[in-house]
Amino acid sequence: MNRVPVLIVGGGPVGLALAGELGWRGVPCLLVEKTDGTIEQPKMDLVGVRTMEFCRRWGITDWVRDAPYPPDYPQDYVYVTALNGYELGRERFPGRGFEACPPESPQKRERVPQDMFDPILTRFARSFPHVAIRYNTELVGFAETADGVQANVRDTTTGKTETIEADHLVGTDGGSSTVREALGIGMSGNPALTYTTNVLFRCPDFDRLHDKGKGYRFIFIGPEGVWLTIVAVNGADRFRMSIVGTPEKINHSEADIRDALMRAMGRDFDYEILSVMRWVRRELTADRYGTARVFIAGDAAHLMSPTGGFGMNTGIGDAVDLGWKLEAVYKGWGGDGLLASYEMERRPVGLRNVAEASQNLRRMLSTRQRLPGPEIFQPGAASDAARKAYGDWFVDVMRNEWFANGVMLGYRYDHSPIVWPDGTPAPADQSHPCIQTARPGARAPHLWLADGRSTLDLFGRGFTLLRLGRNAPEGARLQRAAAGRDLPLTTVSLDQSDVLAAYQRCLVLVRPDGHVAWRADAEPADATSLIDVVRGQPISNRLQQGQMS
Ligand SMILES: Cc1cc2nc3c(=O)[nH]c(=O)nc-3n(C[C@H](O)[C@H](O)[C@H](O)COP(=O)(O)OP(=O)(O)OC[C@H]3O[C@@H](n4cnc5c(N)ncnc54)[C@H](O)[C@@H]3O)c2cc1C
Repeated sequence: MNRVPVLIVGGGPVGLALAGELGWRGVPCLLVEKTDGTIEQPKMDLVGVRTMEFCRRWGITDWVRDAPYPPDYPQDYVYVTALNGYELGRERFPGRGFEACPPESPQKRERVPQDMFDPILTRFARSFPHVAIRYNTELVGFAETADGVQANVRDTTTGKTETIEADHLVGTDGGSSTVREALGIGMSGNPALTYTTNVLFRCPDFDRLHDKGKGYRFIFIGPEGVWLTIVAVNGADRFRMSIVGTPEKINHSEADIRDALMRAMGRDFDYEILSVMRWVRRELTADRYGTARVFIAGDAAHLMSPTGGFGMNTGIGDAVDLGWKLEAVYKGWGGDGLLASYEMERRPVGLRNVAEASQNLRRMLSTRQRLPGPEIFQPGAASDAARKAYGDWFVDVMRNEWFANGVMLGYRYDHSPIVWPDGTPAPADQSHPCIQTARPGARAPHLWLADGRSTLDLFGRGFTLLRLGRNAPEGARLQRAAAGRDLPLTTVSLDQSDVLAAYQRCLVLVRPDGHVAWRADAEPADATSLIDVVRGQPISNRLQQGQMS
């Protein structure tokens, strides 16, 4: 492939998801990844509910379900002074195989770490013959012209260089993105929230070395507040310790790491350190998300604290937003302004999720302002009462992070130029409970259908016109207008009162990414102008200001 429609740079989860999304849409693409694909230390492990909805659309939820993270491994969050110390509080969650789907989704979140999830995304992307993945291939530079992009790549094993031409290039090349740097795009926010050290260690006996039972995440509170966390990475023998750190630069030595492990356990124990990753927790969003033909997505575009598990999930949202727009341009029905809407829709989501992740961090670190008193660490009935009071407070403080479907599902494209607002007030943007809305710009709500499917299953690769209730207009004008612009549109008629009540209008136009583009009770007088707006063909301000019925 020396000329490809889309060149993806970076084979982390976001690049792989974009390759899969484009493959699923029939868009040929090439992904280049500079490493051999080995994951030394898995980072993400929470596959959020919206990402699972994408997996449902791609038909790969069984692969995620069958990932080797044990379905019965309890997912409790446990707050302790030490594993052989006092338990201050606990948020109980069942193993991922036993968690029910929330009312707002046909899916539930999953615990599948990166070294299990990346192979699933790779398998999905590789299931399309028009998707190619090349490892040991590094982007070293590129030039963008009016007609395309010329990318220079280097084989990292031989040093051989070559030029690949593409219509579009997407940098999913992580936090220190070559693509972002080459475009001269800065990042705004806070570059250093904490200097953190992650230690992956193997300890097959871990659960038997203390009395707290199995749990997903242990959060350690000392006299200085929260200082350490340990998570069950694979639900078996591998764990990740994070020395949370502070904004002051620090380089934890091996002796520091071993001291921290001993303090966390409350005694010495046998373990094997597999890898150490020193990293900086950031709160940064790119000032722009690309140019006319070159885009950035995932960590290249936003860097956030892992508190909440939003990083990859936000990046996969970027990939899905970009995916259908690249398809529309590749197939010829996308308007001149469609790709520009990517930044307008996704950058506000990046800013929102970056801020939310930092707020979660601040909640966890609020223990450093409200320090536990010395009695918390001493035996006795009075201390038990103090522990309970402190623990109850902390359990409450942390809930926002563990119940976050509103963050995962509730992002909206309110000010997008390719969404037709209907003037209704926006519901609160909150973490929990998740508020579903069919207001234009929002993810179209999930409801179960009488035949056992979800409303989400009605949305395919193109646009969907929902006709809801017995009195819904035919939609013929919209269908004609869509056909006139080669815009793929499927009409679905549904007479189910709870769906009509949730969507609030008889006609709802849902985009290829499952977001509502427009809704009304009657067809628009000028259906062609509406179709032009939603396919990103800029039209006059007069029409955009809502003069259509
Ligand atoms: C401790 C921790 C826990 C986390 N937990 C979660 C979680 O539970 N859920 C969640 O959603 N997020 C989580 N995150 C965040 C998540 O890991 C990242 O958001 C995610 O990995 C970003 O994916 P990406 O594909 O954008 O970038 P990356 O994963 O960084 O991948 C970028 C890829 O690009 C390649 N590359 C770079 N430059 C080039 C080049 N010039 N040419 C070719 N290839 C290149 C790199 O080798 C790399 O493979 C966590 C992060 C940390 C640190």
